[in-house]
Amino acid sequence: MSAPSDAIKPTISTEEAIPRVCPVCGMENTPDAVFCANPACDKALGEFLYVEEELKKEARWHETLAERVTGFVGKPHFLVVHIAWIGVWIALNSGIVAMLARFDTYPYSLLGLILAIESLFLSGSVLIAQNRENAHEKKRARLDYEVNVLTYRKIHEMDIMLKEMAARVERLEAQRTLPVSSVNETRNEP
Ligand SMILES: [Zn+2]
Repeated sequence: MSAPSDAIKPTISTEEAIPRVCPVCGMENTPDAVFCANPACDKALGEFLYVEEELKKEARWHETLAERVTGFVGKPHFLVVHIAWIGVWIALNSGIVAMLARFDTYPYSLLGLILAIESLFLSGSVLIAQNRENAHEKKRARLDYEVNVLTYRKIHEMDIMLKEMAARVERLEAQRTLPVSSVNETRNEP
């Protein structure tokens, strides 16, 4: 493929173009920026909706909480913390530390109750996060479709315009290349 000619290059160079101002933090970004360069902001600077921002805007408090909980449960820290505190609990109630009185003797029914309640909340959080993930997928597909349709319509409009322009140029070229006699004949016709 040949390189694009100078004729189709944008007439305004990057240096001359107006900087893209972030509507949230007001930072001036380069004209071709897609996301705000401010790491704390990271706003999408496109002309249409950004799916992640849309989803964040729609999230309710319990969904955000469930996502955070699921995020923490999925990390190795969660296992380490549990192994540590269950180990300490069993050690204290086995009489290893003679100074402290046992508060949950074998078979550690209080520990079992606490873990059962915790697993109830965790499974609830995982289910909420999963439902939200499904909703995300639907929303993403919808926004993708919207952008694709809008782009397709625009390209279709441009295609029609280009064809019309090409036809017009062809007609003008044909008129210009007509022999003088045929032009005179055309003029003398009643
Ligand atoms: Zn910003």
